Amino acid sequence: MFGSTGRLGITGLASILVSMATWANAAPCLEVTLTGTQGGPPIFNGQAGAGTLVRYGDDSKNCSDVLLQFDAGRGTLQQLSKLKVPAGKINAVFLTHIHSDHTDGLADLMQIRWHFGSAGPKVDLVCNSDVKAKPGHVMSCSKLAEHLGDAYIASGEIAQRLVENKKRLPGGPSDLLNVATFDGTAQPQEVWRSGDVVVTAVASRHVAGHASYRVDTPAGSVVIGGDAGNDVPKPPRKSSTSASVERLAQGADIVVHSTIHPVMGPDMDSGFPPPVYFRQSTASDLGSMAQRAGVKILMLTHLIPPLGTKNQGPYKVPGGALTKEDYANAAKDAGFEGNVIVGTDLATTRLPSK
Ligand SMILES: [Zn+2]
Repeated sequence: MFGSTGRLGITGLASILVSMATWANAAPCLEVTLTGTQGGPPIFNGQAGAGTLVRYGDDSKNCSDVLLQFDAGRGTLQQLSKLKVPAGKINAVFLTHIHSDHTDGLADLMQIRWHFGSAGPKVDLVCNSDVKAKPGHVMSCSKLAEHLGDAYIASGEIAQRLVENKKRLPGGPSDLLNVATFDGTAQPQEVWRSGDVVVTAVASRHVAGHASYRVDTPAGSVVIGGDAGNDVPKPPRKSSTSASVERLAQGADIVVHSTIHPVMGPDMDSGFPPPVYFRQSTASDLGSMAQRAGVKILMLTHLIPPLGTKNQGPYKVPGGALTKEDYANAAKDAGFEGNVIVGTDLATTRLPSK
């Protein structure tokens, strides 16, 4: 053995070591981090609003060649700073729907980007096209983007800061958004691509214009379900989960999904409004869906109720505060055999695992 090393010589050995290191460094990796896990508009214990950061890239670069933010709830920018991810490095933001608990952090994110990074690059904002809901109102991601900086403009701040630095874009933070809308479909369609990273989307039910996403990379795949629920708005129905999301999740490594615990159901006397309960997916049904779809890791987020509290906003949690086990067991008891991660802010999973 020593003899063969000797014949190879120092130079040959060094070149093998260098190529082994290069090979190791070139390994692609995918990292999925819950930037915020708060379920709905209530605020609890400093939890950030809903959001998921998906990082893909080379192992030697901390899987950070492509940075995708899915939803940007309250506090997203602070969470990104904890991860040492600068706002200016995010390549694209994808919105599942136009609810403030998923969008509150967008103006913050874009204002700081405008302040320090007006020279670009712009950020792709990917979301559903405008949709008119049955009662007549229109859910409009493009309007949200267009008016994102209106309060800063109306208050005079943008004008004042333009005096300070004329290189800033004159229209405020909206000028840095590249809005890319799509018409949601039941079958997955490609909505964004960069190199090896492909994002597909389906239309799913929650409020008009809700979309769920899947990211495919050479290191693995992740589905971001958002707040999707079943197309049938209330029982009787087979499941509270979305058939479109299940289609999207076939064979995915990771599913990140908003979750409601069955204790909040109308039969449990929580006082929680039944239509709001029925438009979410329960932890149990998510477990069954993930098992049927062959998913390896189920990340439960946007937990209703949050862990360790007797209240969900103004509503009580029947039976008292829930633990991580209460959520994980609901998914496992419904047949999920993979790994359940019960979301807390900044919970991260990585592929391949270290
Ligand atoms: Zn929500």
